Amino acid sequence: MKCWKCGMDASGICRFCGRAVCKEHVTEMPFILTVYCCGKDAAKAIVVSDVLYCGCCKPLPSPIEMPELDSGGDNR
Ligand SMILES: [Zn+2]
Ligand SMILES: [Zn+2]
Repeated sequence: MKCWKCGMDASGICRFCGRAVCKEHVTEMPFILTVYCCGKDAAKAIVVSDVLYCGCCKPLPSPIEMPELDSGGDNR
């Protein structure tokens, strides 16, 4: 596997988008595993710190709504 940015041998895979990146171009950022919404408190998240990140994809800080997936998902 080659680095997405420079074409050198990659040493890791971006946790967010799956691009391969070498040590030179890899970045680290926290990765949110799960988010809890518990009533009165603010939402809490279980976060893994310093997962591999390619630096070019754009993970969003919170889940987004995808209404178009709601309809017709299971019609055979
Ligand atoms: Zn590279
Ligand atoms: Zn990425």
